[in-house]
Amino acid sequence: MLSEDLLKLLVCPMGKVPLTREGETLVCSHCGTRFAINEDIPNMLIEEAQLPDGCATLADLPCVKEGKAKIDPTDA
Ligand SMILES: [Zn+2]
Repeated sequence: MLSEDLLKLLVCPMGKVPLTREGETLVCSHCGTRFAINEDIPNMLIEEAQLPDGCATLADLPCVKEGKAKIDPTDA
């Protein structure tokens, strides 16, 4: 299993915001981009990530548009 401690360290590469786990994907809590988990290893390559509905390119993502490293303190 992918450890919870490791998950907490992972952030969206564009917005530096926390990710939430949904099955075998990690979802950015801000822009909704999905990163696959392959055999317990998250694939954080943005080029291979799945963009959310309504976002055709990386430039459409809220994390990219805003370009800020805002951390949601839900786990604090
Ligand atoms: Zn994001």
